[in-house]
Amino acid sequence: MKKVILFLIDSMMPDVLERCIAANQAPGMRFLLDEGQYIPDCVTVFPTMTASIDCSLISGVYPDRHKVPGLVWYDPREKKMINYINGSMPVQRIGIAHCARNVLFDLNERHLSREVKTIHEVLEENKLVSGSINVIAHRGHKQHKIDLPPALEALTGFQLKEKKVSGPTIMSLGTLVRPGIFRPIVWNFAQTALDSYGINDKHAIDVLIEVIKSGKQPHFTLVYLPDNDHKLHKSPQDAIQHLADVDRQLVRFLDSYDSWEQVLERNVIILISDHGQTLIGESEEHNIHLEQLLFDLVIHRLGTDVTEADDVIICNNERMSFLYPVGNCTTEKIVEAVSVDARIDLIAWKEGSQVVVRRGGSRQELRFWRDGEYRDIYQVSWGMRGERDILDIDVQAGQIHFDTYPDAFSRLYGALFSQEASVVAVTAAPGYQFISEVSPSHLGGGSHGSLHKQDSLIPLVIAGASQPFAVPARLVDVKSFILQELQVFQDATLVPL
Ligand SMILES: [Zn+2]
Repeated sequence: MKKVILFLIDSMMPDVLERCIAANQAPGMRFLLDEGQYIPDCVTVFPTMTASIDCSLISGVYPDRHKVPGLVWYDPREKKMINYINGSMPVQRIGIAHCARNVLFDLNERHLSREVKTIHEVLEENKLVSGSINVIAHRGHKQHKIDLPPALEALTGFQLKEKKVSGPTIMSLGTLVRPGIFRPIVWNFAQTALDSYGINDKHAIDVLIEVIKSGKQPHFTLVYLPDNDHKLHKSPQDAIQHLADVDRQLVRFLDSYDSWEQVLERNVIILISDHGQTLIGESEEHNIHLEQLLFDLVIHRLGTDVTEADDVIICNNERMSFLYPVGNCTTEKIVEAVSVDARIDLIAWKEGSQVVVRRGGSRQELRFWRDGEYRDIYQVSWGMRGERDILDIDVQAGQIHFDTYPDAFSRLYGALFSQEASVVAVTAAPGYQFISEVSPSHLGGGSHGSLHKQDSLIPLVIAGASQPFAVPARLVDVKSFILQELQVFQDATLVPL
């Protein structure tokens, strides 16, 4: 049986991939495309932010089931804002102390629902070995020690007993967690923030090559390559060059075999992205200042306790934001406050078991719910009422087709029902992003987070597989595809709802 290696390339976009190959800048990716299947319009998860997407990739379900709503969200039970630092924010940002615990421990051990199983858990329950290199969502059945650099240790105040995270048998998290098969000091680079603690493409490929050479290659390995995202945020005009850099790392892996053909004789190779990016305009009006829109309400200040006096908590995910009414504030007040701004693309909230959606600058509404008279192209059943144009929905012979907002119903439902709390989700129109207290600005650069197809359609490349990937393709279907390639047919997560 072949092994499976899945490369998760942050912010890889189909048009950039195609242009990069056409310009002869990506020989490794060209080889895999020529030898395999290329799907340019695979649909990812909403919000289009790495944390919730990674959880869907390893669990095979949308956030309503895995319960990790986004990169930044609010936990009403603990009255705390959750913020996972990931590839979209440089790890050296000042938030590391505040957020390291969320990303290193809480994401996997507390937030990711125990009702779902990760691909690592399923594989290892089926007597296969699984591996995860630099992926922030990595829950598995083995415990791994975290080597926090002393400075980070002091900042985060980690207790000794908590200095373990779970993962598959082979696990690497930069320099913080290293595969047990290695001698203690194999890697000769500074354990510093400047190297993002080893959460970078070169380190990930180094670890992968070393694991394969050791003879301990897991049946499945998930490898996260973050560099493309950082670079695209800053200079989207150099997108082809950034992806060519990723290809150079991929070629280092391919070259570690006797031939590239041998790679595919021994492995199924999958390339996928987590989300796209949208170009943000250069002028200040492209920043949608949420605090100005919500000026009538008391906005919770970052870093302070949530009190009775607060009305709204802003959890900013770049081109989308979660807005939580607290205290005496209501969903309606927030919806009305943001409805006036036409730079806001979509406004969505829950009413009972239904989702209601508006466009910014309008009061027309579309509402939808599970189990109705229509089916979407993914065979999910929905009822709906209202203005279909809001989500650019086309119904042909009772079947719902999406265009501008791919898989809109399941993805909006997934984000809103990932929590019981009342919450309003807003997305920014193309060219715009949300700004709130201490959030990054990307004027003239790239950003993501929204439901729009520019942020949501990702390339999927599969080479060396025994079967084609079924289309229309979604990121949440990758898990079951890999399990089938590894001849595992028991996945308790995927019992039909
Ligand atoms: Zn990003």
